[in-house]
Order: sequence, then C-alpha cells, then structure tokens
Amino acid sequence: MKFTKQQIENIAYDTKSLSLAYSLSHMRSWSNLGTNESKLWGVCQGSKKYLVESSYDLNNYSCSCPSYKQPCKHVLGLLLLAIGNANCFSRKVEPSWVDKEESSLQSKIITVVSNQNIKNEKDVRLVEGMKQFLLWLQDLIRGGLMSQQVQHIEFWEQQADRLVDCGAINLSANIRYLGTLPGRYKTWPEIVLDELGKMALLIHSYQNLKQLPVLVQEDVKQTIKWDHSYAKWEQGESIKDIWLVVGRNYNTVDRSKVEFFWVWGQETNRFANIIKWASSNKNYSVGDIIEGELLYYPSNSPILGKFKSEKTQHKFSIENLSFFSTLEDFLYSTASILGKNPWVKRFFCPLKNTRAFRQDGKVFICDENRQYIPLYGCNSDRVFASSIGKLVNVVGEWNGQFLLPMGIFSDQEYIIF
Ligand SMILES: [Zn+2]
Repeated sequence: MKFTKQQIENIAYDTKSLSLAYSLSHMRSWSNLGTNESKLWGVCQGSKKYLVESSYDLNNYSCSCPSYKQPCKHVLGLLLLAIGNANCFSRKVEPSWVDKEESSLQSKIITVVSNQNIKNEKDVRLVEGMKQFLLWLQDLIRGGLMSQQVQHIEFWEQQADRLVDCGAINLSANIRYLGTLPGRYKTWPEIVLDELGKMALLIHSYQNLKQLPVLVQEDVKQTIKWDHSYAKWEQGESIKDIWLVVGRNYNTVDRSKVEFFWVWGQETNRFANIIKWASSNKNYSVGDIIEGELLYYPSNSPILGKFKSEKTQHKFSIENLSFFSTLEDFLYSTASILGKNPWVKRFFCPLKNTRAFRQDGKVFICDENRQYIPLYGCNSDRVFASSIGKLVNVVGEWNGQFLLPMGIFSDQEYIIF
C-alpha cells in the first residue's frame, strides 16, 4: 500500500473513530472492494450499507454515512483494511458512486437514498447549529465585549466545541482564534467586533443560501466547513503553470496544526494557498518549483488550491514574477478580493522596493510612497537587518492587521524565512 498505518492514525478525527475503525478493518465487514491507480473503494456492511472511498494520498475521501467526523470510521476502516489485504481490492472498474460510469441499478439506488440521508441529517444538524450560533452572537453583542466572560478563553472554546459538533469545522477554528485576542492587542475590541460582524453576515447568508450566486454559495459553505470530495474540487478552476513555492505558514484547523504553502504561477501570475494535511505524503519546500496543474477550490475569489498533477524541481527562478509597487496597489487588490468574498482572512503580499524601520520596538515596512504597515512574527527582525542601506522585495502574508514576512528577494536571491 502507498500509505502507512501511522499516516491513517494521523488523519483520524479522534481516538474513538480510530478504535471503531480497527473493529471494521476485517474482511467480513466489506464487499465490492476495488482500486485503481489513484483511489480505493468498498461497501461497508453493518446495520446499514455505506459507500466508502479514499484517494491513496489520503487527501480526499467520502462516505455515505451521516457522521460529521471527517474522515469517518468507515473511511479509516477501509484504509486500515487495505494495509494487510491489498489483494482483496480486486475490482478495477469504478462503480457509479465513485465515477458515475457503470454500475448495477441496485448500487445506484443505494447511492441516491443514502446520499439523500447524509445530506439531510448533516444539513439538519448544521442548520440547527447555525441558528444556535446566531443566538450566541446576538447575546454576546447585547452583553458587550467588555463583559467578564469575553476575557476568558473557555467562553470561546465552549462555543468552538459546539460548532465542531454541528460540523462547522472552519467556523470553529475562527472562534478559537478570536478567543486568543482579548487583551493581546490594544485594538482587540475592534478586531473582534469586525470578525463577529462578518460571522453574522455569514450566518444570514447561509440562511438565505439559495438566493445567492453559485460561487458565493460556495464561499459561504467553505467558510463554515470544507467539502473534501473529488467532485467538489473538480467543480473549480484548473490552471497549468510553473509554480514557485514562495512561503509557508501554519494555522490551526480543528485543533491540529496545518501547514499552508503559498505558490505563485510564473506564467499566469496567479497564486494559491495549498494545504498540507498531516496525513499527506507530499512534501513541499519553500524554494521548490512545481510544474503542474493546480485545481482551485470553487470560490468567487479562488485562493485555496491543490495539485492535480505535479513535477517538482529543486531550483528557483524569480523571473516573470510581478510584485506590487506600492501598498496602495496591494490594498486595492485586497479590497477587490474582499468585495467578492468578505470572509477571506489571508492575502498573498509580494511588495517591491520596501525599506524596514523600527518604532517602539516594532518593525514596519515602508513603500516608495512612505506608506507603511506593521510586521509580525520572529522574522520581522531579519527583514529589518536585510534592508539596512538598501531596498528589498518582501513576500509576505497579510492578515488584515499585520504582515507575516515569508521571504525576501534581495540581489537576485530569495532568502527564505
Ligand atoms: Zn462513514
């Protein structure tokens, strides 16, 4: 098998799903097992039948059960089963629920009925969860941000846990993040209020989803939670280019630390944020060049991407990349992204000819018009040191408040942080 037990354990939602998955990892629980070069599938037979599939890189999986835990015990069970029983995955032709091509009528019926069920059960829980969350938001605003409870991280953590329970994984991560802000910055009430306002807009949008343009619907849904299925990614744009891996950052999604890479297309000048899940055996390094086809997650302002095909070379060239000349240009582009999708949180910021300066112990970078923004993170000092006596091109990630420097181009060389 192309994956290990350790990798399966890494993607498990929690230890309970893993132990249930072990109890399903026996041939007696499965039928119709099959595989091709990219994925494997099977039908799990318990009190009900579930249709389960997963890609070999463990980045995509789906199951027709109603569990909000992703991957569910059936996906994990299928993968664990495959480790010792590769030869039992004998079918080579994908059934209709994997590829819509050929299949028996029976499995089509199972698919329709069970997909309907999962949709319904998961949707009901999410709809109810969003209703409760809106009430929580309204109570919070009524009580005011200066109320005692807001200062305690548990207040936010409890709400984040409730969001996980209804499946709103991404929204939950955002609430957890907000819980870390009170008291951290002088301007925290403004930042938190702004975020809460966007969340209220999100819930109202979710409650009126069908009235929105299709891609806005996708943005509303993915701000609440991602859909990792193949089908979802295949609805997005696909771009072939030579991509440079220019930076890296970390974020916490559902309590696990996830690595994000920024890639920048040499021909198209497009950029994308690639998530590297702990389970993935793909290894990107900042400085790599990846020639390949990138799929964007469907969005009104596509940013999240993943490679459909890729060939990695370990050399780097900065020709053809275009930097923003001024902060005004950059912020203008940010505004146009936010105009399409107000819930975007991270922006790719390559900025030309900047100079760093220090004030009150903080590092700022200043453009040629003498406009400046604050840096954050341990690399701010390196930017400062590298820019002494010269102008540098900075590549960073902007979060609306601060710029996280990821690297600088100086004297035709890319210095990676
Ligand atoms: Zn399942």
